[in-house]
Amino acid sequence: MSTDQDSHIAICFQQVRARIQAAEQRFGREPGSVCLLAVSKRQPLTKLLAAHAAGQCAFGESYVQEGVEKQQALAKQNLQWHFIGRVQSNKTRLIAEHFDWVHGLTSADHARRLADQRPPGRGPLHVCVQVNLSGEASKAGIEPAAAADLVAEIQGMERLRLEGLMTLPAPTDDVAAQRRPFAALRALRDQLATRFGALPTLSMGMSGDLEAAIAEGATMVRVGTALFGERAPV
Ligand SMILES: *Cc1c(COP(=O)(O)O)cnc(C)c1O
Repeated sequence: MSTDQDSHIAICFQQVRARIQAAEQRFGREPGSVCLLAVSKRQPLTKLLAAHAAGQCAFGESYVQEGVEKQQALAKQNLQWHFIGRVQSNKTRLIAEHFDWVHGLTSADHARRLADQRPPGRGPLHVCVQVNLSGEASKAGIEPAAAADLVAEIQGMERLRLEGLMTLPAPTDDVAAQRRPFAALRALRDQLATRFGALPTLSMGMSGDLEAAIAEGATMVRVGTALFGERAPV
């Protein structure tokens, strides 16, 4: 049975997909080259079901336990799950067992644990290295100068597949300021690619700055509020 909430979410998906398409066109990006990751953390199952009915299959969660519970409740839907929160050592096993992607990898120790704990029956875990490009304003992510060493370590791990880089800049309304860290992530990716081979994924851009991210080469935008509305408090 369809509800008001379902039709509201269907409209929000249409709007966000239209924003992505318009940005692809405006900034000379290949149509369809930007994937939409629906960030469903702190949102109820009914909204995820409505998103799935609107054609969405990739979901991002920031809290391990909550993500695993949703996966179990939605096992029939055959969805793809991305862990976008902070990786903690005591949670790596659950992440390795249950998720398809990890966006916020910041240490070789976590990478080793995830690789060791990835169940043999599953394909490699797709990972992105998170880089801090807003300096003091953001504490999440490794320094750009440390990225090459971490990339080299991960590339030696068979159970991980390094997809690219991720960043989560300090929020700002100023579009020029929004673009700076995204441009820097892309430049870092291009530089690393000359040494390590293709790093196709640039995971950057959220509800408030996805256009700036697409302008600078994002291949995956992580969008929560614009699709699902405000989140329940933690
Ligand atoms: C919550 C979250 C998002 C989504 O943010 P919105 O502003 O709601 O679109 C994206 N990326 C990460 C890492 C997040 O934690």
